Amino acid sequence: MFNVILFGPPGSGKGTQSEKLIAHYGVKHLSTGDLLRSEIAQGTPLGLEAKSVMDKGQLVPDEVVIGMISSALERNPTVPGFLFDGFPRTVAQAEALDKLLALKHTEIGVVLALDVSEEELVGRLLNRGKTSGRSDDTNEEIIRARIIEYKNKTTTVAQYYAQFNKVVHIAGEGSVDEIFESLRIEIDGRK
Ligand code: ADP
Repeated sequence: MFNVILFGPPGSGKGTQSEKLIAHYGVKHLSTGDLLRSEIAQGTPLGLEAKSVMDKGQLVPDEVVIGMISSALERNPTVPGFLFDGFPRTVAQAEALDKLLALKHTEIGVVLALDVSEEELVGRLLNRGKTSGRSDDTNEEIIRARIIEYKNKTTTVAQYYAQFNKVVHIAGEGSVDEIFESLRIEIDGRK
């Protein structure tokens, strides 16, 4: 089993590259953003609580997302690996994930960090907001809040994995295929 974390700020292309990685490697995609949006769409109590936090550009409490990931791991016992997208976003989430994977006698193989400039991120997200129906993509203030939340809380996750030499930085500007090729080379070199 080879597990990958796709890491990077909002708008860095995690969703786009995830689709290509899933098609190529057959890994199971676990996106906490998608899982949360599905809870919202179903109108569950968890979804209602999450929506108000997400619409401020802030992070949903660690226990909530860790619980969602734990059940998703349980639901997929036989996959060749997991692709984590948008998770972990805090060091507490990273530590919890390591424990959950250790229980399954597996671990994170590599953390692929997509580097994209802030102005490019804001442009991409505002553009996505025109068609995605995501309320957190239509307002520049919310977008900037998400980028600040990323800088304050989430960059520490890369430092956490760097101590285990698991982080590789990938230039996230360029064509979708060029970026995918860089990701693929790193995964194939470590598998
Ligand atoms: P983005 O496109 O900004 O990377 P996502 O689709 O991954 O966003 O997530 C959208 C929102 O869902 C985040 O801004 C945050 O409020 C919430 N969220 C998603 N994943 C997590 C997580 N691991 N921890 C806390 N909150 C999360």
